[in-house]
Amino acid sequence: MVEEVAQRPTRNLRDASVTDLVTRAREGDARAVARLISWVEDESPQLREVMAALAPYAGHAQIVGVTGSPGVGKSTSTNALVGELRKAGKRVGVLAVDPSSPFSGGALLGDRVRMQDHALDGDVYIRSMASRGHLGGLAWSTPQALRVLDASGCDVVVVETVGVGQSEVEIAGLADTTLVLLAPGAGDGIQAAKAGILEIGDIYVVNKSDRDGADQLRKDLRGMIALGDHAEGGWKPPIVKTVAHRGEGVDELVVEIDRLFAWLTASGELEARRTRRVRDEIEAIAVTALRRRWDGVHARVELDDLAAAVVAGESDPYTAADTLLESL
Ligand code: GDP
Repeated sequence: MVEEVAQRPTRNLRDASVTDLVTRAREGDARAVARLISWVEDESPQLREVMAALAPYAGHAQIVGVTGSPGVGKSTSTNALVGELRKAGKRVGVLAVDPSSPFSGGALLGDRVRMQDHALDGDVYIRSMASRGHLGGLAWSTPQALRVLDASGCDVVVVETVGVGQSEVEIAGLADTTLVLLAPGAGDGIQAAKAGILEIGDIYVVNKSDRDGADQLRKDLRGMIALGDHAEGGWKPPIVKTVAHRGEGVDELVVEIDRLFAWLTASGELEARRTRRVRDEIEAIAVTALRRRWDGVHARVELDDLAAAVVAGESDPYTAADTLLESL
């Protein structure tokens, strides 16, 4: 039904459908939320209106990023974390993003498999999203999907990266906080140092603590964190041991997340991080718009002409770029 209303062509009704969808989403209607996130994935022209309508309602949710190597237990931990947050009466959203896949893969993303504990809970909204090869990719779409979940009344939104990729660090910039998961045995200590993961974690989780080597990994991590640069009154990332599939340690993890948000809020760091994030988002939208103009026929002809002039030695690339920017 929502579908029908949304596809009616006249301007007024389209306006009404956006308003209607936004109202429904704010009331926690999962189908309306799903539709709005699909619009994000499809880069619907209605997004502009949706974002304007959602803007006054955003900013409530705590956005928690979960990252780590494949197989370390991100999905299992997210599932357990959702359970713990639900116990505290929180409404929870989960956004699983796959930075490595250009295809939307509901099945691949495993949201129906590993999150099944929460499949029937009306206060949990689980969604996967892929970049589908967009110009701006996930940097463009993730913040918008998060805004939908935020404005729809989620208290906490967990952003989980799925799939193999080197994007852990990039993904860290999409959330208010970053939980870095590591597990013993996978050579994770060394990997962590390599991937620059030690700079991005607000909380480190040593998952699979039922396995040998968990204490050693924690010790190694503690040493590496101590070496880091921590300002007076700053946040010193704690290390939490968990056994995700049994839910062990997850209560402590929630305590640390709460402590972290209290610090982020009091120190002004939460606002600073959000402002940085929105700056990136604005930039991604602007660059996408710019590129689109570039791809217009007129600009392409002009670009060809400019390139020919540079090849012929009549111009140089900087001057040509100035000319191109001025013409847009
Ligand atoms: P992801 O790829 O990081 O999302 O990892 P998954 O959540 O899919 O977990 C990978 C595998 O590790 C699954 O078979 C889980 O059941 C298992 N696993 C997750 N957490 C633990 C844990 O704490 N201990 C043990 N022994 N296995 C775990």
